[in-house]
Parts: sequence; C-alpha cells; structure tokens
Amino acid sequence: MLFGRRKKNPIRITDKGVREWRYATCGYCSTGCSIEVGLNAEGEPVASRGVADADVNRGKLCIKGIFEHELFRKSAGRGDKPLQRTNRWEPFAEATWDAALDRTGDEIRRIQERYGRDAFAIVSTGQIMTEEFYTLGKLARGVIGTNNYDGNTTLCMSSAVSGYKRSFGSDGPPGCYEDFEHTDCLLAFGSNLPEQHPIIYWRLQQVREQRNFPIIVVDPRVTMFAQQADMHLAIAPGTDLVLLNALAHVILEEGLQDRGYIEARTEGFEEFASLVREYDPLTASRICGIDEDTIRNVARLYGKADAAMTIWTMGINQSTHGSDGVVAINNLNLITGNVGKPGGSSLSITGQCNAMGTREWSSCSGLPGYRALEKPQDREEIAKFWGIDPEFFPKKRGMFMTDILPAIETGQIRGLWLIATNPMTSMANTARIRRTLERLDFLVVQDAYHDVETNEYSHVYLPAAVWAEKEGCFTNTERRVNLIRNVCTPHGDSKTDLWIFNQVARRFEQGRKMNFPETAEAVFDELKQLSKGRMLDYSGMSYEKIERKRGIQWPCNEDTAPQGSQRLYTDGVFQHPGGRAKLIALPFIDNNERPDAEYPFWLNSGRVVEHFHTRTRTGKLGNANKFSPTPYMEINPDAAAELGIEHGSYARLTSRRGDAVVMVQCTQRVARDMVFIPFHYHECVNRLSLGLLDPHSRQPAYKQCAVRIEPAGDQAAAAERNRSARAF
Ligand code: SF4
Repeated sequence: MLFGRRKKNPIRITDKGVREWRYATCGYCSTGCSIEVGLNAEGEPVASRGVADADVNRGKLCIKGIFEHELFRKSAGRGDKPLQRTNRWEPFAEATWDAALDRTGDEIRRIQERYGRDAFAIVSTGQIMTEEFYTLGKLARGVIGTNNYDGNTTLCMSSAVSGYKRSFGSDGPPGCYEDFEHTDCLLAFGSNLPEQHPIIYWRLQQVREQRNFPIIVVDPRVTMFAQQADMHLAIAPGTDLVLLNALAHVILEEGLQDRGYIEARTEGFEEFASLVREYDPLTASRICGIDEDTIRNVARLYGKADAAMTIWTMGINQSTHGSDGVVAINNLNLITGNVGKPGGSSLSITGQCNAMGTREWSSCSGLPGYRALEKPQDREEIAKFWGIDPEFFPKKRGMFMTDILPAIETGQIRGLWLIATNPMTSMANTARIRRTLERLDFLVVQDAYHDVETNEYSHVYLPAAVWAEKEGCFTNTERRVNLIRNVCTPHGDSKTDLWIFNQVARRFEQGRKMNFPETAEAVFDELKQLSKGRMLDYSGMSYEKIERKRGIQWPCNEDTAPQGSQRLYTDGVFQHPGGRAKLIALPFIDNNERPDAEYPFWLNSGRVVEHFHTRTRTGKLGNANKFSPTPYMEINPDAAAELGIEHGSYARLTSRRGDAVVMVQCTQRVARDMVFIPFHYHECVNRLSLGLLDPHSRQPAYKQCAVRIEPAGDQAAAAERNRSARAF
C-alpha cells in the first residue's frame, strides 16, 4: 500500500446555496454541452453543472463551461447603457435606447439614400440564438435590404460550408459524435480536439477505452491530440490537399475503393481519378513532408477499414485551399463509401456555439432554411411568408465579411453594424483593419461588452444581453438543436438581441408592416413552418421536447423522424440535382506566403482550452484567464538558442504586416522553422498575419505566413505590458 493512502483529505464541496437549476446549452464552443445554471435564494447565478442525461456531454463540462455562470453579473466590461458620440475620437455619452436606435435607423437610411442600399453592411456572429439570427436576417434582407450582410463564421466555417455544398449539394455535416462508437479508423486534420472541443475528445476517448481503433492526427504541430494519437503526420503548412490527393491515389491504385458506391452515388469519377494519378506518394511527400511509406500506410488503414471517418477544424478551413481541403476530405469518403453510415463520415467540428444556427437561418449567404437568393422559387417562398415583394431581394449573395472590410477602404461601404464580433482582434492584419474602421461614416457596435476592442471605433454602442440572459436555441456540430432557457435578467439596461432587432425594424416603414414576433418561441414557430419537408426540418420540435430530450438532431418531423436523425445521406441521395454527390478534381497550387531568408519562420496560430475566441468573455473570468493571461509563443529550443532567446523572456516577431511582442515558451511541440501563438490576444498574432483568402469560401489563411524573430529590445517594457495584461 502506498504510504499515507488512508490519510487523504476529504473532498469538501462548497455549498453555494443553489435553490434552483435552470437548463441551458453552453455558449462557447459548438460541442453543444447541456448545462444547468444554479440560482441562489436571491436569484443570482452561482454555479454551473453538466447535465447527466444529456447525450452530448453526459454530465461533463470543460473549464469554460464550469465557470460559465460567472459571465453574468461578475464579468468586467459588461455594457449596461447605450452609448453614442458624434466622432469616434470623442468620449461616449450615455443615451436612451430610443435615441441610440433612432440614430442607428437614421444613419442607415441616410447612407442608403446617398450611396445605395448596399453601402450599409451588417456583420454578425456565431454566438447569438438561432431565433435572433433569423430575425436579423428578416431585418437585413426584408427591411434594410442590404446585400452586404455576413457573419464572422466566414473566419471559421466558411470553407466547410463551401466544401459541403460543392460535394453534396448542400451545407450540413452528415455525421455525429455517435460515429466514434462505430468507426474503425479516425483521421483528424488540423484539429486539436482536447483543447478546442474537450468534451468531444472525451467522447472519443471513452469509446477508445472500450474498443481500439487507429487515430491519425495530421497537424504541423505536436498538439495535445497529436500526442494522444496512434500516428502523427507533421504536415508542411497548407499542403493538406496534396496529402489527401495522395491518399486517394493509393486507394485507387490498390483497388481499395468502394466501386459500387462510386458508381451508384457519385459523378465525376473519371476526371477525379485522372487528377489523383499525378499525386503519387513520392511526389506528394516532397511537397507535404509526409514520407511515402506513411502515406501508403494511412491510405491502406483508411481504405481497408469497414467504416472510417474524417474530422477537421481550422487547420483545413483557415487556408487558401480551405474549401478544396473539405472537398478532398469528402472525395476520400465518397470513394471509400464512408458517407451517411455509422462510423463512416465527413464531420467538420464547428467553432462557435451557434455557427451552425447562422448557417441554417441567418440568411447571410442567402435566405432562411438553406434557401438561395439565386433560386426564384426560394425568393418567392420567403417573400410570401414575410409579406414583401420578391423583387426586393437581390438575385445573388453579396460580399463576405472578408470582402466587406476591404470595401470600406474603397468607399463602397460607408456604414457598418457589427453584432457580437470583434474584427480588431479577429481579422488578419490588424493595422489595416484599424485604418478601415476609421474610414467609416457610421459604425454601430452591438455587444455584451462595451470594452470590446472594436468599440473604440464606433459611433453608437448597443449593450446586448449575453447567453442565458436570453432564451432560444443553438445548433451544435452534429446538427443538434438545443435550448437555452432564460436564466436571469439582462445586465443593467442591456437588451436581448431579439429585442434590439425588432426595435430597429420598427424604425423602417417596411418593418412596421411586417410581423416581427416578440418572443423567441414565437420566432421558433416560424422556423418550424419554413423548414417543414426540407433537409433541415425542425417541424417536429418544440422547446419542451428539445429540453426533455436534451437536444434534437435535424431533420426532425412528426411523420418520418419524430426523434430526430443522427446522420444525413443514409439513403445515398444527395442534394445536387440528380441526387449524386460530386467527386471533384483538385489540383494543388502553392500560393501561400512561405518562410524565406528575410522571414525564416512559419507562424502558426490556434486555440487554448481556457480561452474562447478574442477573450471578450474568458479574458474577464479569473478562473479561465489565469491559465494563459498573456500572449506567448511556442518556439523550438534549438531555434531559440540560435537566436539567443531564453525561455520566459520576451521576443519580438516581425512580418511584412507588423510586429508583436510575446513571452517565449520553449517546447519541442513545434518544429525548428515554426512558431505557434494562441490567436486569442488583442494586438498580437493578427498584427502579423496575412490572411490570404480562399477563392471559394473567402475564408482567410491565418495559419500560413512568415515571420522573423529577435529578442525584445526592452525586456522591462515587455514585462510591464505582460503584467498589465494579467490585471484581470
Ligand atoms: S466543450 Fe464546449 S460546449 Fe462543452 S463545456 Fe466546453 S466550451 Fe462548453
């Protein structure tokens, strides 16, 4: 027996005085954990816990979810009053809601009358409720009528959307977490699951404890996931497409494809096969850095598995080949017959808690319910439902977020409404974004936090309620619609986003004629009506049923799928006309910035477990922020020694865009020619990043750019900056 084993201190759980637990869904990542928030006798949120009978998380939460109740009253920087000013360099003055909303409505009208309807742009988020997305879409498309309306999901999931549409004819992840229980081989591209989506990782590990199957992680960095994998393929940045083409090459060369599936369910095979013939493993190895034998081994493992699946995150999406990377993953799964079957799937792991909800219902890329502006029938249907003239709609989608901001530079866009998004931290090339925002005639920022960095450039600030200060639904990575009950009232005089959208609608003549329901549940009823019989059918859902079942995966309708559906395309019928999936030939063109003599290091970026996106929320919660309070860089110890940089000191990185100072962390997790910086910090990694755009998805390549590194000249000043960053 181990010494002292019987003398363990008893575990004491603090009694927080919880009198009532209220049901919600976590508001950070897209895993979609069911969570309960505990209220004390005064009705204050004092605790969070996972919901034991929820299929997604089975009682577990990650560190962000565990402290999520602290978001409400306790987090610093919450906005409690509308603010406005004439010029962005003046101090804000408090305003009434009427004054702030009147001014917003007046400015939108003034800009549109003078410069045209599309001169006013709207950029939203993946963080608000689905009902709010739908209402914003109704307002943007049906009332304000701008075609330059998009979400910050262009920065994270646009490539997945584009890739699904190109391969399968529609957006919509075909698989689910339950696929882990059936798969015989899991390939993960650019996904550090234990840090990005800890509970999905836990689900995977739980299965692996019962049943072993190979996990192959493809990532330039030795991530936490790579450390746990059976095989780690440390790929050269931006070359996933080459590896995927080479895997397909081997599978076809060795006859491991599913001929029956290819023949019955796909088109374009000949052209695809002819292209991948050029990607023999030897040629591919020289581009992607994975040796020939490993490529053959992985292809055989995947091709011979009864069921194999691929998951991916930003390592694929945030690339100039992001959309092609997703299509290449789909190609791999189509030729091996791994779509729509248990354990066989393409499953994008989404970023934000409701990035899926905006894809489904916000009308950013078209019209609600996966309808397209390009289709006359879709325009007619929605116009009739909303009671407006279909000619009011544009005939094709407008700019993506990543094109809207450059269009401000050219004067094409004069006014902007940002909703729960923070481009001053999240967009590549911060210096350019700053100059861009300074050029706006009018910027309105709607956010739960008045100290969000982008608010520095606004004319009007609208304080929004956060997460469970509201009611509504999120859709998670596996198409599960889950509910957030209203846990407490909005902070101060902040308002729900739904209320704000409805109030803006009333400031337009067309908006006053249309129906804008006041409650989220009444909006949800519109979603049910508009989705009935469609791929993303919500018609069999209700708030009560969603809460009871701890989330329901669409399609769900009373007749054919009253309990929801785990997978899409189980019948092998796809959404392209004719019902076949497309195999698409994808030549690789190396168009990224690469290290050279002047800028000799790859700069890679990603997430850490304790922070979410631009730290607007987690930077304010001591229990999250304390683990990574300051920007840091992972650098290989050999490279650091060569540069005369010590562990724990400060270094200055310079790219062709700008510079940043970070604390040095020496680690073998990165190769000698690469550094990694978490993307969460303001004035940090995006001062350096280039963000070239994918031609299909317009998603930026954050992870492939070049920097040079030197010791920070003034270590004391760098340390002082670091100390102030720890102030939260
Ligand atoms: S894994 Fe994601 S959804 Fe679950 S608790 Fe953590 S942040 Fe929330």
